[in-house]
Amino acid sequence: MTSREQIRRLLVAFPLVGLSAGLAARYAGAAELAVAAFFVATLPVLAFLLADAVSSLKRGEFGIDLLAALSMTGALAFGETLAAAIVALMYAGGSYLEVLADRRARREMTALLERAPRTALRYRDGHTEEVAVETVLPGDRLLIRRGDVIPADGELLSGMAVLDQSALTGEAEPVRQASGGSLLSGATNVGDAFDMTARRAAAESTYAGIVRLVEKAQAAKAPMARLADRYALFFLAATLAGVAATWWVTGDPLRVVAVLVVATPCPLILAVPVALMSGVSSAARRGILLKGGRVIEAIASVRSVVLDKTGTLTVGRPGLTEIRSADGYEQDALLQLAASLDIACKHPMASALVAAAKRKELSLSQPERVVETPGEGVEGYVDGHYVVVGGRRFAEARWRGHDVSCRWEKAATPAGTSVVHVLVDGARAGELHFSDRVRAGARSVFDTLRGNGVENIVLATGDAEAAARHMASGLGFDRVLSNLSSDQKVLSVLSERKNGAVMMVGDGVNDAPALAAADIGVAMGARGSAASVEAADAVLLLDDLGLLVPVFSIARRTMRIAYQSMIAGIVLSIAAMGFAAAGYLDPVAGALLQEAIDLAVVLNALRALSSGREAADG
Ligand code: ADP
Ligand code: MG
Repeated sequence: MTSREQIRRLLVAFPLVGLSAGLAARYAGAAELAVAAFFVATLPVLAFLLADAVSSLKRGEFGIDLLAALSMTGALAFGETLAAAIVALMYAGGSYLEVLADRRARREMTALLERAPRTALRYRDGHTEEVAVETVLPGDRLLIRRGDVIPADGELLSGMAVLDQSALTGEAEPVRQASGGSLLSGATNVGDAFDMTARRAAAESTYAGIVRLVEKAQAAKAPMARLADRYALFFLAATLAGVAATWWVTGDPLRVVAVLVVATPCPLILAVPVALMSGVSSAARRGILLKGGRVIEAIASVRSVVLDKTGTLTVGRPGLTEIRSADGYEQDALLQLAASLDIACKHPMASALVAAAKRKELSLSQPERVVETPGEGVEGYVDGHYVVVGGRRFAEARWRGHDVSCRWEKAATPAGTSVVHVLVDGARAGELHFSDRVRAGARSVFDTLRGNGVENIVLATGDAEAAARHMASGLGFDRVLSNLSSDQKVLSVLSERKNGAVMMVGDGVNDAPALAAADIGVAMGARGSAASVEAADAVLLLDDLGLLVPVFSIARRTMRIAYQSMIAGIVLSIAAMGFAAAGYLDPVAGALLQEAIDLAVVLNALRALSSGREAADG
C-alpha cells in the first residue's frame, strides 16, 4: 500500500469513527459529547483539505476542493456539526474511492512488472551462474529454463524453443523457434530448457523499455481532475451567489449552511478521475498502456495522426529482394560487409540485413567503431574496411566520389522497394533492395479513425519518396512526407499542430523525438525500440496497428462518461441547492442527499471500466 493510500484510508477512519461515536452519544442523550465527536470527525479532513487547497493555490491552480472546505467550515461555524461530519465522510470516502479506482487501473500494469525477470543464468567456464539481469551483455550465453521469462533480446543457440509471446504480441498460441531464430525479451519459455545468445543488454531490450514505462506511469501522480477544475470557478461563483441570495432573502443561517452542504462538489471532484482511471484500466486489458488519465483527455481531442512507415505502417520485417553490386564486388561479399556492420543496429532494415546474411550462411565479422544515425544509416569498420550502410542521402554525404557535385545517377528500382546503399572505403559498392508489407487492415483502421474525429492522417518516413508513395497508395493519406531525419519528423509533427492536437505513432529510435513532441506519442508494439517506448505516452503492447481503434474508442467513451457524470452531478446539486434554499432540506438531509448524488455519479463513472470490447466493435 502506498503512503498516499494510507493517508486516504486514515482520513476516512476519522469521520467514520467520529460520526458513529457522535450518533451513539446523541442517542444516549449526551449532546455535548456528540458535538465533540462530530468535531473530531471533521477537523482532520478539513485540515487536510485546506493544506491541499493552499498548495494548489501556490501552484497557481484553483482547486474545486476549496468549496468542500468552505461548506465544512460553514457547517461547523453555525453549529451544524452533524452535517459537517457527513460532508467530511463524503469527501474522505470519495477521495479514497479515487485511490481504489487508481489502484484497479494499475493492477494490469503491475502484473506486467511482476513478470519482469530480475536474474539470468549465464554460462561461465562451462558452468552457469545466476547474475542480475543488468549485467547481461551482448554475446553472453544464457540458459533459459522452462517457465523463465527471456531477459534480453537474442537468438536461440541450439535445438528448439517453444515460447509464449502472448504478453508481447497477443498471440495466444505458443510460438516455435528453431536454432538461430530470434528471441524477444519478455517471452516465456513454455517448452524445454534451451541456451541462447544475448544480442542486446537487458536494459536495451524491448521488455525493459516497457517495464520502465510502466514504472514511470505508476510513479506519476493520479490524474488531476483538470476537467472539473476548469469549471471550478464557475461552480464556486454559482454557489456563493446561491448562498448570498439565500441569506439575503431568508436571513436564516440554517438554510445557508444547507445550501453550502449540498453544493459540496464531490461529484465534480470524483467523477472525472474515476472515469479516467477506469478508462486506463480498460485500455490496459486490451493491451494498451496509457501513462495516466491525462492521456485519455488528450487522445479524445486528437485531430491529426502522424505515422512512421517501417515498423508502424508496415509489418517491419523487410525481406531482401535483390542485391546490386558494383563492379569488383561479389554479391555475397557486399551482403557480408553490410550485415556485419548492421549487427550493431536495431533498425528493422538492419535486422533484415542480418537475417538475409544468416540465411545465406555467411559468417559475419565483429564490427568496430560503429556510429549509427538513427533512421538514416550506420558507419563503421568491418575487417579493416570503412563501411557505410544506409539511405541515399546518408550514403551520398559520405561518398568520396571524384566529383562531389555530380550526384550518382538514380538507378530504376521496382515500385515499393526500400534501397539500402553500401559504400566500402568511400566508394560505392552497391545497393540492397528490400520490400516490406503494409499491415493488414490498415485502410479500415484509418477509416475508423476518421469516424472518430481524426481529420488528417499523415505518413512521415525516413525512407525515399518512391517507396513511401507506393506503400501509402490506396490508404487515403492526406500527406506523405519522405526523406525525413529525426528532427524533420519533429517538425512535421509540430506543423500538424495548426489543425489541433497531434498523435504520432512510431516504433524506431528515430521516432522518439517526434513521439515526445506530439501531444500524444504512441509506440508500436513490444517490438518497438526501447527509446520509442519511453518517449511515448501510450504503448500498444501487442504488435497490431488495429489497437489504434480501441485507443480512440476507449478515450472517447471515457470522456463522454466523465462529462456526463460531471454534468449530471452539477445539475442535481444545483436542484438540491434550490430545495435547500427554499427550506425543504435541513443541513443533515442535504448532506445525505448530496451523498446519494455522489454515489450515483461515481457508479456512472465506473461504467468506463467496461469500455473495452463493445466500444471497439460497435
Ligand atoms: P521510417 O521508419 O522512418 O519509415 P525507415 O526506418 O524505413 O524509415 O528508414 C529509412 C531508410 O534508412 C531505410 O530505407 C534504409 O535505407 C536506411 N537505414 C536507416 N538505418 C539503417 C541501418 N541501420 N541499416 C540499413 N539501412 C538503414
Ligand atoms: Mg520505423
